[in-house]
Amino acid sequence: MKKNILIIPGDGIGQEVTTWGKKVLEKIGENYGHEFSFDEAIMGHTAIEATGNPLPDETLEKAKASDAILFGAIGHIKYDNDPSAKVRPEQGLLKIRKELGLYANLRPILLFDELLDASSLKPEILRGTDILFFRELTGDVYFGEKNRNEDNTFASDLMNYHRYEVERIARKAFDAARTRNKRLCSVDKANVLETSRLWREVVQEIAKEYPDVETEHMFIDNAAMQLVKNPKKFDVVLTANLFGDILTDEASQIAGSMGMLASASVGDGTGFFEPIHGSAHDIAGQNKANPLASILSAALMLDISFGLQAEAKAVTNAVAETLKAGWRTGDIANANTEASKILGTQEMGEKVLEFVR
Ligand code: NAD
Repeated sequence: MKKNILIIPGDGIGQEVTTWGKKVLEKIGENYGHEFSFDEAIMGHTAIEATGNPLPDETLEKAKASDAILFGAIGHIKYDNDPSAKVRPEQGLLKIRKELGLYANLRPILLFDELLDASSLKPEILRGTDILFFRELTGDVYFGEKNRNEDNTFASDLMNYHRYEVERIARKAFDAARTRNKRLCSVDKANVLETSRLWREVVQEIAKEYPDVETEHMFIDNAAMQLVKNPKKFDVVLTANLFGDILTDEASQIAGSMGMLASASVGDGTGFFEPIHGSAHDIAGQNKANPLASILSAALMLDISFGLQAEAKAVTNAVAETLKAGWRTGDIANANTEASKILGTQEMGEKVLEFVR
């Protein structure tokens, strides 16, 4: 198989972790006889510094022309501390999602047994958890009209959803539920928000097309609590952009660390694969970042964009074997981990490569 893959490292640890996602794809290409060619493009703070634009036209053109994109993260402390900055790294990410029509963000909560004790939750609560989140990605309060009055005493962000936006992601989530344990939980705030009432109505209608899937509706506040109380109760979780953003960060603790969770954004155009974490200024450039989320994002690319299930499995198996052999980055180590088993980004990436069959 021949594929063109665009790497967008972005900012901070994005640069460090995508190196390893890419190396794993190269190794898979060699082992399985695929011709993967790679190009690179800039986005976020790095792109603002170079061009003044967080998503240069050249990056967007390359993205549209590629078969899949492996992205790192964007963000810089300078903007986090300056909310008034008009040009911001995250504008690049929001724009590329919109331009590529990436309306569905899939976030599998993949729990490796070896990391049961890396989580802040008890192993008996976690064991057996397997959740697939569907977060809507191109609507909601993130894209609604934003306002601030002249004397800075009032601001607003408009939360809005169109029926078709809910329908298309709901169908994707129900389709996925059919291939899993046939349970879908739609999370909203329909007791308070009009957008959530529309969301619930549409999901109820689509549910009728999937009588074999058991559908449940849950308020976001309850879902946030249930997720740590009894994560096993969830199979597919379908939710809006803002709720999904927050719930999946919470769910990252089930997997042990933000550094373990990969995601796939799909829709009308090229698939976009990225860790759920950000640019992590606190550890950037220190060889401390966990590269496994980027490596697992590469596995999702192989599976979802290229239909290469055996190759994707070879990558997740390599991660599992690395963990089984006791290797850890700092974020997934615990008090019982021997110091000699705690590796930096580069050394962890090399270990995974050794295990890629
Ligand atoms: P973050 O995800 O960057 O970091 C949160 C915490 O998790 C930090 O303590 C960090 O050290 C740790 N962490 C994250 N990834 C890790 C990894 N791979 N290995 C080990 N530890 C890891 O979130 P934040 O601190 O809220 O945001 C930092 C910047 O990232 C901000 O500028 C924010 O806007 C941006 N951001 C970008 C994205 C994205 O690009 N998709 C997502 C979230 C935040």
